[in-house]
Amino acid sequence: MLERRHELVSATPGTRRELLSLHYGTPGTGPKALVQASLHADEVPGLLVAHHLRARLAALESAGRIRGEVVLVPYANPVGLGQWVLASHEGRFDLASGENFNRHYANLTLAAADHLAPLVESGGTVSVPAVREALRAAAAALPAPTELASLRRELLGLAIDADLVLDLHCDNEAVLHLYTATWLWPDVEPLARLTGSRAVLLADESGEEPFDEACSSAWPRLAAELSRRAGRAIELPPACVSVTVELRGERDVEHGLATVDADAIVRYLVARGHVAGDAPVLPDLQCEPTPLAGSIPLVAPHGGVLVHCCRLGSDVRRGDRVAEIVDPSTGVVTALASPVDGVCYARESRRFVPSGTRVAKIAGRERLRSGNLLSD
Ligand SMILES: [Zn+2]
Repeated sequence: MLERRHELVSATPGTRRELLSLHYGTPGTGPKALVQASLHADEVPGLLVAHHLRARLAALESAGRIRGEVVLVPYANPVGLGQWVLASHEGRFDLASGENFNRHYANLTLAAADHLAPLVESGGTVSVPAVREALRAAAAALPAPTELASLRRELLGLAIDADLVLDLHCDNEAVLHLYTATWLWPDVEPLARLTGSRAVLLADESGEEPFDEACSSAWPRLAAELSRRAGRAIELPPACVSVTVELRGERDVEHGLATVDADAIVRYLVARGHVAGDAPVLPDLQCEPTPLAGSIPLVAPHGGVLVHCCRLGSDVRRGDRVAEIVDPSTGVVTALASPVDGVCYARESRRFVPSGTRVAKIAGRERLRSGNLLSD
């Protein structure tokens, strides 16, 4: 195992942070997988899953079972890990800029296309290794004037040439669910089975460039740009399977769950050919994939005490009561009903909420939303 430390831009004199990446196997001898934990730094389940993966990957490496390279980033956000304000951990938004740590990853299309221009103009074949080289060069050249920009550059640089990217997150309170690109569903289906996912949310474009999409979308975007420039069809495979894995809720931090999740990830690595071994037995799917545009948030119309009325992971019908908001000043109780049939897969963890809070999310089958599909 090779341990690499990536120094971030120092924000102020006297401070210095670094990212750690652990590299198992031998790069260039097979596929590359990357697993990173807790880009939203206060979403802790991923940190514990990464801890358990570390031991498993070390054992697999000793047994000579790693094909190519598996990279583990055991904490993807040292900036957010250190953001403690009045004894509360703020790991979702960068305090300096207000930006969400899982948004605004660079679109490398134009820079990578420039890098490939001589090859395209000479009529050569645009191969997967050539594209990966171009993407690596484009990521390495990203400007990084701030600590946050340098964190994003380092993370993207580690992942952009991978065949498989698993970005480990969690929701407030939730059952295990996945986000991925629509075109990747056949590749991700075994992961949904192995993890027992209760929802899989698919989108061509979620909006605001989350990390997983920056990695997977690079391929279709680059194919379109190269074709446009060349005036001929240049096809590229969807060579990066990238998934945001939501490891239940923020309090679901237990060795039992983390070992189950780490085992599921290792089995998926075997299924994808990153680790040598017998193909795993795939359990039944626990859900059909649904469009992210069909995931409907229920919004509190006024502030008050939040009372959930629906078990996480349960199927709900349109009109079913999902939650209530109790206004302590008037005694008014507002019932929030599901507008669709679907699965109640995530919900707010606080029990007193201001107006406008998204208190629960229902994965429905119809595309009812458009525009920016992710929450803030
Ligand atoms: Zn997250």
